[in-house]
Amino acid sequence: MGKSKEEIIEEMQQVVAQMVIDDLEDNPDCANEYFDCDCCGKNSCMAGSIGYGNYRLCNDCVLLAETGFALGKFTDIQSLIDAMEDSRLEEVCKFIKDEEARKKSLEN
Ligand SMILES: [Zn+2]
Repeated sequence: MGKSKEEIIEEMQQVVAQMVIDDLEDNPDCANEYFDCDCCGKNSCMAGSIGYGNYRLCNDCVLLAETGFALGKFTDIQSLIDAMEDSRLEEVCKFIKDEEARKKSLEN
């Protein structure tokens, strides 16, 4: 423990990005397989998606879910699905975006 929010987000981004790479290595065909994400509703690539109970989430939403869990923003996937309609998720999205923006500004 004792990790900063930024470290947790960074770690999750790496883990979730790695899931896409692993999925494509295990099953290159999944690059051409699409499904409708149960969280954001977008038609998304199977690579990097994860099934949580009855839901299947796209890689973007997996990042939100895992980061949200890691930061204690919510404890189950139902909360994330419910939060899609709600400002709580915007918060989760916002600090991930802030973090990305911060990194970009460091690169420049
Ligand atoms: Zn999604």
